[in-house]
Amino acid sequence: MIERTEKLLLIPGPSPVRRRILDALAASTVAHTSPEMQADLKKACENLKRIVFCEKGEAFIVAGAGTLAMEMAVLNTVGPGNRALILSHGYFSTRMVEIFEAFGLPHDVARAEWGRAVPPGELEERLSAGRYDTVVCTHVDTATGACAPVEEYARVAKARGALFIVDGVCATGGIAERMDDWRIDVVLTAAQKCFGAPPGLALCVFSETALDRRRTMASIPAYYSDVLRWLPVMRDPAKYFSTPCVNEIRAFCEGTRIVLEEGLEARFRRHELQARAVRAGLAALGFTLFTAPPFLASTLSVVAYPEGLDDKAFRAALDGRGVVVAGGLAATAGKVFRMGHMGNLTGDDVLFAIDAAAGALGSLRNSADRGAAVRAAAAVLDAGAKGIRA
Ligand code: PMP
Repeated sequence: MIERTEKLLLIPGPSPVRRRILDALAASTVAHTSPEMQADLKKACENLKRIVFCEKGEAFIVAGAGTLAMEMAVLNTVGPGNRALILSHGYFSTRMVEIFEAFGLPHDVARAEWGRAVPPGELEERLSAGRYDTVVCTHVDTATGACAPVEEYARVAKARGALFIVDGVCATGGIAERMDDWRIDVVLTAAQKCFGAPPGLALCVFSETALDRRRTMASIPAYYSDVLRWLPVMRDPAKYFSTPCVNEIRAFCEGTRIVLEEGLEARFRRHELQARAVRAGLAALGFTLFTAPPFLASTLSVVAYPEGLDDKAFRAALDGRGVVVAGGLAATAGKVFRMGHMGNLTGDDVLFAIDAAAGALGSLRNSADRGAAVRAAAAVLDAGAKGIRA
C-alpha cells in the first residue's frame, strides 16, 4: 500500500486540499483592489458559473461558509410577502428551517424520512394545494447521504412558477446542477467540499429571476449578505464594499481551474465511480449503508455499524491508520460513520481508505479480509477506467 505523510481527510468536507491550491493560498496577500485580485475574483465568478452551467445570472463569492450562503439565498429572495416550501430530508434542511424561523419568514416544510428524499409527486401535490412562490431543497444532505431529485423538483417548481433554491454545499462541482437547463434560480454552496478548496467562502449563483426577486424587495434584514451591495463588486472587482478574503479567493479560483481542467462530465463520472468503489470495498468488509439505495449520493457514504462495533473505537483505529472520517449527526450519532469521497480524490486515495478501514476493522474484530476488500474496490476502479477509455 501507498505510504503517506499526511492523514487522508475523508470527512464529508473539508475534503483534501491539493498542493496546487495550498500554494495559491500561501502566496503573498495582495491589495484587494489590485489587478491580480481583480483578475482572480472575476475568473472565480466566471468559473463558478460555468461549473453550475449558468450563462447569465450572477455569482457571489464572499468570506463565510455554507451557512452564510444559505442565509444569503433566503434573505435575498424570501420576504414577509412570500411563502416558501422547504423540502426537508436531513440535518441541513432542518438548518434551513431554522434560518426561516430566525428571520420570521413564512414557510411550510415537507419532510422525508432520513436516508430518503421527498418524492417529486409530493412536491406537485403540495404546490397545487398551497400558495408557494418559493421552493427550497438540499441537494445532498451530508448527514444522511441522500441525494434529492433536483432536476425533477425544478420541473415541478417551475411549472408552478415558484422560485427554486438548491443548497448544493455537498454536491456542487461533484454532481451536476444544470442551472439554466433545469431552471434552478439559486445554487448556494461552499468551497470546502467538491471544489477541494479550503473552507472560508460562501458561494451563491443567482439567476436573473432570483435577482429580480431581490430587486422587488424594498429592504431585507441583511447588510453584509445583501446581494445588491455585492453586485457592483462582483461585476467590477475594482470596486469596494467589504474586503474580500484575497488568499481564499485565489485558492478557490485555482480549485475551479482544476475542476474545469478535469472536465465537468468526467468529474461527475469520477465521483460516481469512486463512490461505487468505496461501497464495494466496504461491502466486502460486511458494512451496509444507511441511505436508501435509490437516493445514494456520489459524494459521501453514510455507513451503518454492524451490531457491537463501537463508533469511537473504529474511527480512532481508522485515524491511527491515516484516514479521518466523521461520526453520525443527531439521531445517527454512534450508529454510523460518514466517509466523504468528493473533490479531488485519486483512485489510490480510495484504495488507501479501504485498506485502512479493513485494518481498523481487523484490529477490533479479528475478522476482516483486507485483500478481498481492496480487490473489490480496485475492480470497480479498473472497470471504470477501461469503460472511460473505451
Ligand atoms: N448545507 C449542507 C448540505 C452542508 O453539508 C453543510 C456543511 N456540512 C452546510 C449546508 C453548512 O455549511 P458550513 O458548515 O460551511 O456552514
